[in-house]
Amino acid sequence: MSLKNVELTLKIKGKAVETKFGEMIFTHFGVSGPIVLDMSRTLVESIRPALEKAVQSHNPFQKALHVPEGAELSLNLKPALSLEQLTARLQRDFYTGGKKFYASILKDLLPASLIPVMIDLSGIPRDKAGNQISKKERDYLVQLLTNLPMTVSGLRSFTEAIVTSGGVSLKEVDPRTMESKLVKGLYFAGEVLDLDAKTGGYNLQAAFSTGYLAGVNAASKT
Ligand SMILES: Cc1cc2nc3c(=O)[nH]c(=O)nc-3n(C[C@H](O)[C@H](O)[C@H](O)COP(=O)(O)OP(=O)(O)OC[C@H]3O[C@@H](n4cnc5c(N)ncnc54)[C@H](O)[C@@H]3O)c2cc1C
Repeated sequence: MSLKNVELTLKIKGKAVETKFGEMIFTHFGVSGPIVLDMSRTLVESIRPALEKAVQSHNPFQKALHVPEGAELSLNLKPALSLEQLTARLQRDFYTGGKKFYASILKDLLPASLIPVMIDLSGIPRDKAGNQISKKERDYLVQLLTNLPMTVSGLRSFTEAIVTSGGVSLKEVDPRTMESKLVKGLYFAGEVLDLDAKTGGYNLQAAFSTGYLAGVNAASKT
């Protein structure tokens, strides 16, 4: 299921370290999509010492990497509304919904596949009439809609990585030619360099640009 215009916050040991707004996807294995991919880099940096230990006993080509420290995501499904606005909207929906079932009122608020999840988490029976939903239940639903917590249990395996961070240090490469400053006649391009960017075409652009420079300059030397 793909979600647009949502806000995702990464928390490490309860402390918010990054918030991103945009698109994300619920997949069969967990979460993915642009804001999740971008955020995974921050997660890796935030828990690097613990990860480095875990990596030593990890086969990157076989399994997903367990995240050894408390990392959590918090999803705001309604970032365009303040808490007061969302509360007022629910009050209105439940009131005007009258005897309509809770599950049916949620249809105006959430994508279909999220409705059973939200019913489960909120603990409000699916067939409860809108006008019977208490303030306590409504407040809890507001909390879930704006702060849906997810525990990060692991990272996907290296074989599924979109881009690798790390590689040949840029300090050791001449940016005009992509030639190594240490070994004459050796040229680098693309992922092998310690160069990565967020999703959106920047990594391909980096590979094309450095590839062009390395190719032209290597050819002109021979
Ligand atoms: C699923 C996925 C989606 C992506 N989506 C995007 C995106 O939307 N936008 C974006 O900007 N970037 C995206 N990327 C990242 C982008 O594709 C890479 O950053 C870019 O392709 C790197 O180019 P490269 O030439 O350095 O490396 P690669 O494209 O990995 O090319 C390396 C080549 O070397 C070959 N090779 C490896 N070892 C040897 C060997 N020993 N001998 C001979 N050949 C060898 C490999 O087979 C491969 O063909 C995505 C990556 C993945 C995996």
